Amino acid sequence: MTTQHSELTPQALTTLSEDERLFRDSVYEFADREIRPLVREMDEQAKIAPGLIAKLFDLGVMGIEIPESYGGGGASFFHSVLAVEAVSRVDPSIGVLVDVQNTLVINALLKWGNEEIKQRYLPKMAANTIGAYALSEAGSGSDAFAMATRAAERDGEWQISGRKLWITNGNEANLFIVFANVNPAEGYRGITAFLVERGFPGFTVGKKEDKLGIRASSTCELLFDGCRVPRANVLGEVGKGYKVAIETLNEGRIGIGAQMIGLAQGALDHAISYTRERKQFGKAIAEFQAVQHQLARAATELEAARLLVYNSARLRDQKQPFLTEAAMCKIFSSEVAERVASLAVNLFGGYGFVKDYPVEKLYRDAKIGQIYEGTTNLQLQTIAKQLLG
Ligand SMILES: Cc1cc2nc3c(=O)[nH]c(=O)nc-3n(C[C@H](O)[C@H](O)[C@H](O)COP(=O)(O)OP(=O)(O)OC[C@H]3O[C@@H](n4cnc5c(N)ncnc54)[C@H](O)[C@@H]3O)c2cc1C
Repeated sequence: MTTQHSELTPQALTTLSEDERLFRDSVYEFADREIRPLVREMDEQAKIAPGLIAKLFDLGVMGIEIPESYGGGGASFFHSVLAVEAVSRVDPSIGVLVDVQNTLVINALLKWGNEEIKQRYLPKMAANTIGAYALSEAGSGSDAFAMATRAAERDGEWQISGRKLWITNGNEANLFIVFANVNPAEGYRGITAFLVERGFPGFTVGKKEDKLGIRASSTCELLFDGCRVPRANVLGEVGKGYKVAIETLNEGRIGIGAQMIGLAQGALDHAISYTRERKQFGKAIAEFQAVQHQLARAATELEAARLLVYNSARLRDQKQPFLTEAAMCKIFSSEVAERVASLAVNLFGGYGFVKDYPVEKLYRDAKIGQIYEGTTNLQLQTIAKQLLG
């Protein structure tokens, strides 16, 4: 009986398989060795260091869920979450690059791409091609389906006209999933997802935003002036782009949860090592009980946030409903990230307020978690809808 019971008892959410643990540790070791020395310069220059992206491809974190038959890692969504968390512990800007690539772009290609699309794009995505996901516009953010970008069929191909705003990886990407309405009279039922390559005629990448945080991650405007897209580049069905957008974002926001717990862990790491070193009143400030309690509370909140993120990712991999859990994990982990980064700034004192030390950047970076892939208010709306019907 005892044996039977233990066989049926699920593992703790934070218990990683050998493979998951080795993967996470190798990504973190890479981030610590290769990314950490570049963080400040990339933040100042608002640019990813040359050569870093190629190393991320070599590491195998840019095509995590792509099946091995297309040249990818053949791993799970949970692996993507572990990679985003591990990278974001060092730099949330690079964390979001890895996140958008895996949890939005590759995820959508795997789920909605036909075999021809998969064969054409997945090997490139695993090898050297960065993806971007273009839904938002100047006039439509939370109300994304009110988009003004249009597509019309002409001479056997599609032509897209309009502008997208805030597109992560805009500078680096070569493949863009672009949402446009082909039949505005039908409202959201006209929305269609298109695969647009950087070189397609009529497509240009516009202005890059100058941001508060995650500054090394590019956020760009995209301009479409009768951009010509082959018919074979419709992702999913014409008029079903709203499903591609909703379902991909439902999963993608677990990735943002992962980015935020990684950020919070990074801030806590810095706070622990600094408070052990810094002496006031003749002893390390970590010896003051008030400081110990602040660190303990931060660690407790981080553990709760991590459980929400891991649970959502495990549910998704097990094909169980996860919509509410994903919304909860994004809200909570982004708030925890802001609180823990804020505490780290406080515990560094004056040194926390200057750029010579790493925590003010994490405080700036944390803010985005409550905004992109659906603001906190929109996540609350999703949860309330589940509660109240
Ligand atoms: C750095 C960065 C990267 C981004 N990357 C991408 C990307 O790669 N691809 C992409 O498509 N988009 C991207 N975005 C866009 C992002 O998803 C939107 O900014 C976000 O969805 C909010 O839209 P908005 O900015 O238009 O704000 P609005 O929708 O105008 O919201 C403003 C405020 O009103 C509140 N609000 C709006 N509607 C309601 C409501 N019904 N009830 C209660 N409150 C409401 C919101 O919560 C928010 O506080 C990015 C944005 C940033 C800043």
